Formats: sequence, C-alpha cells, structure tokens
Amino acid sequence: MATIKYPEVWDLDVFFEGGSESLAFHQFLNDLPIKVENVVTQVQALTVEVSASELRNVLNQFTNVLMEISHAGGMLSCLTAQNTKDKTALLLQGQLSTISASFAPAILRLQQLLSAIDDARFNELLASQEINEFTFILTEWREQAKQKLSEQEESLISALGVDGYSSWGQLYNMFIGDIKVEVDVEGENKLLSVGQANNLSSHPNEEVRKNAFEALEKVFTEKEEFFAKTLNHLAGYRLTSYKKRGWDEVLQEPLQINRMKQETLDAMWGAIADNKAPFVKFLETKAQMLGKEKMDWYNFDAPVTSLATTVSYQEGAQFILKHFGKFGAQLEAFARKAFEDGWIEAEDRDNKRPGGFCTGLPLANESRIFMTYSGTMSNVSTLAHELGHAFHTYALCPMNPLNRRYAMNVAETASTFAEMIVADAAVEEAQATEDKIALLEDKIQRSVAFFMNIHARFLFETRFYEERKRGIVSTKRLNELMEEAQREAFAGALGEAHPHFWASKMHFYITGVPFYNFPYTFGYLFSLSIYAKAKEEGSAFEEKYMALLRDTAIMTVEDLAMKHLGEDITKRDFWEKGIKLCVRDVETFIQLVSKEG
Ligand SMILES: [Zn+2]
Repeated sequence: MATIKYPEVWDLDVFFEGGSESLAFHQFLNDLPIKVENVVTQVQALTVEVSASELRNVLNQFTNVLMEISHAGGMLSCLTAQNTKDKTALLLQGQLSTISASFAPAILRLQQLLSAIDDARFNELLASQEINEFTFILTEWREQAKQKLSEQEESLISALGVDGYSSWGQLYNMFIGDIKVEVDVEGENKLLSVGQANNLSSHPNEEVRKNAFEALEKVFTEKEEFFAKTLNHLAGYRLTSYKKRGWDEVLQEPLQINRMKQETLDAMWGAIADNKAPFVKFLETKAQMLGKEKMDWYNFDAPVTSLATTVSYQEGAQFILKHFGKFGAQLEAFARKAFEDGWIEAEDRDNKRPGGFCTGLPLANESRIFMTYSGTMSNVSTLAHELGHAFHTYALCPMNPLNRRYAMNVAETASTFAEMIVADAAVEEAQATEDKIALLEDKIQRSVAFFMNIHARFLFETRFYEERKRGIVSTKRLNELMEEAQREAFAGALGEAHPHFWASKMHFYITGVPFYNFPYTFGYLFSLSIYAKAKEEGSAFEEKYMALLRDTAIMTVEDLAMKHLGEDITKRDFWEKGIKLCVRDVETFIQLVSKEG
C-alpha cells in the first residue's frame, strides 16, 4: 500500500483566495460595519412586548453577524500567524477589532431588555417553539443583566474601561515587550527578550537555567514598581466596578463566566490540596536525578533524560490516526479529513508565530490548526491537542451558533482528551526505558503545573484581591504573597522560589477574562475523568462523548457532569478519581527511575 503524503502547509485559499490581498476578503470586511449597525438598530428597537417570532428573527440576524465576525477573525488569526511580517493582515485585524467593538452594545442591550421582561412573560417566550432552544443562554443573559447596574451605568463602565482598565493590560504587554534580559549562556553574553529568557528554563545546562532565572528576577526587581502599579490599578478598576454592582466576592464573575459553583471550585482545590504527597515525591526524585536536594524554581523544566527518538510529520500523523481509531471511528475519520484537506499548518519555516492554536471558520464549518512541527514526540502531542479542539468544534456543528459558546473551563476538555490518547500511547509504545521515563516525566510535569503552579497562582490572586480591597498592595507585600503561595502550593517541595512571578506572568494582567488560572486545572481533571470512562467503556463511549461535547455551552458544568457522566462534581470524590490517574504515572516513573539507577 502506497503511503499518502499529507500536506504540511494549510489551505486558506478555500476561504479567500490570495490571503490578505484577497479582494473578496477586503469586500467581506468592508460589508461588515453596515451589517453590525443594522443589528444594533434592530436590537435597540425591541421592547418588552417583543413576540417570540420577532425575538427569534433578531437573534438569527445577531447570530449571522457574530458568525461573520468570527469567520473573519479566524482567517486573520491564520494570516497573522503564518507570516508575522504580513502588514496588510495586521491592518485588517485592526479594522476587525473596531467592528467587533461596535457590536458590543447589541449584546448589552439585549441582556438589559431580557432582564426588563417580567417573569411570566419571559417564561412564555422560553416555552415558545421559536425561542425554546435558547433557554439556557437567554436565562443566563437575563440573570447577568439583573446583577449589573443600569444600561447607562454599564455602558459608562465599559466606555471608561477602554482607557482605565484594558489599557493597563496593554501597558503591561508594552513593558514586557521592551525588557531586555542579559544572560550568560555558556560563556556568551546574550541580550534576550523575556520570552527567550523564559525558554532557557528547559536548557540542559543547569548553569544556563540558573543564570536566566536570576537575570529575570533581577530585571523584575529593578522594574517592580512599574509592575506593582499596573497590577494594583488594573485590580482596582475591577474591584470598584464589582463594588458599584454590589458584588462582594471577587470570584463571583470568574465563576459565573465558567458556569460553575463555588462548592465545585472548593471541592476541586480541596481534593488537590489533600493529594500533594505523590507529586512532592516526584519533585524530590527529579531533584535527586539532577543531583540536588530540593527542587529549585529554575530546575522545574530541566530535562532528566534526552529523548532520542524523532518522528517525521507523516509518522506523527499515522501515530495519531492509529490511536484515535482505537478510541472511536468518528474521531479518526475527522482527523484524517483534517490531515488530507490541508487544515493543518505544520511546516518549520521562518516568520511563523511561535506556539500552536486551533481556530474555527464557522461559515465554512471548518477549522484550521497552527503549529511548527520539528519532529519531537511533544510536537505530536500538540498536534493531537489542537485536533481535539477542532473535533469539539465539529461536534458542536449541529447546534445553533448561540449554543456553541462554551467557557474556558470546558474549552480544554476535548483537547486534553485527544492529547491523553496520544501521550499514553507514546509511553506504552516506547521501546527504550530512557524514552519511557522522558515521556512520563513530560506527562507528570503537566500534573505538577495544574496542581501546584496554577494552585499557587490561584492562592496568590485570591489573597492579593482581598488585600487590594483595603488599599494599594506594596511591592514588598506582593513578593511575600507570591512566595507564600508558592511554598504552600508546592507543599514543601520547593527550594528556591520565584517571588516576582506576579510580575513576570502575563496571566495576572489579562483583562478579557478575570482569574486566568483555575479553569485550566478544572479542564485538565474534568477531561481526565472522561478519559478514564472512555477507557472503561471502549469504542461504544464515542457517541456519549460527542453528546457531552454538544452540551458544553448550554448547561452549567455541574449539570453537564451529572447528565453525561452521572457524577456530582461538587464532591471531592469526583476530583480524587482524576488525581489518582496522575498519581499512577508518578508511581510508574519512580519505579522505572529506581530500576535505571
Ligand atoms: Zn488548548
């Protein structure tokens, strides 16, 4: 049988031929503002007397524009990623963000209108055939609006937020982008960006890792007042708007965005806090392997063995298809189509953006995956991860676009799931013990990141916001809070801490979503327990899995888990099951390492 060669460069011409120079694409973007204006006008004309069919009609148009905006957004993410020097694409991106911003009042107005409709009338609308499928989202919008201030006040808050809130996040990015870090790399003095210096954390030479870490701490110490001011003001804006709305708890908004209960969050962290011992053991073992007593911050990413095996793109694709196929026919067929039809940009060449992502192009019902494939097993995992995202989008196709808008905590479900299939298979199939150890280590590092590093971020952020309510938090105090959180989250396994992590981690400065941390851990453990079920039930599980994915944007996570997994995620038991799977990896790792030694 002749092997098929899958393309390594994606096909964007099927959407708009000629990329950023496509006249059709320019026309598409030029036509958008008038469509947006149209919808905004129609939404503004609605009254509490609206009939079900009128509302449906406006919602349909609202959705159409939303799809066009996200289609254009998908195209532009692809264009700007495949060539960072594509100036036209960058200009078009600016054009699109102005268009998106002018759409925001339509959403706000729609929410306010729904909250103004009385209960009886609202329930009547939901019961109608036209509106019924939007019960969850419309109820959510209505509840959100009820917890907010008047339309005028909320408009004022978001208008002032352009300069008083999101600009702090942009200023942070400017600071970081401007910083140069001087690092001694094996006798050579290098002037690096923060990203480049961070990348040295996995350098095989400890001296280099330590130099990079110390250089970063030094730079952030010198500039700490800038960062402290930025963080304090950003948080201050957020807290003031919460206070005006009468929201006492800083977690109210992030929990609401992620459609989850406080009890669920407490159960998750509680289970993690009680099960740190095996991961402490792992970190101690790793420290010993590196000839150290304790795990210092700069040694977390240190390679313990060198993984010799390289995998060509074609081999990687075959590996993924083979193991996806063991899980389910639909996942395999879907991935095969993605490989064959040029949905993936994998080529290793200049001017590509770093990292990987998956974006949807909803008008075509297709997705595109971006990454740079250089032949490592971790590249294969990334590819599987992004294919998982694309599969989630595919599973949601039968749903109305308004019912496809899932939150961050379930966004990583399908991706982590697909990545687990491949990561597990790689460990199983590895021939050399060295390879097995390296692959397992890679898997366990993820657990350490989600259970310890992200736990530290969560502890820091909640405590910082509590103190910020009483006034500006000093730089000294920020460092203390960070180090305390790290010591606690790593449960005594940490040697040298990273007190300026609050300044170096961009996630604390994201204004689009508050608390950019716990949803990651949620998604990881949630996905693991689905994966465990899939292994138990075999290929018959795929139908159930797809049904779960289809429901990810129309119910709370508690309801989702109860309906599709029969699990009560407000209880620790559920979370402990997922953690146990990760503990098993640690046990195997320690066994293998002690045999080796
Ligand atoms: Zn992802």
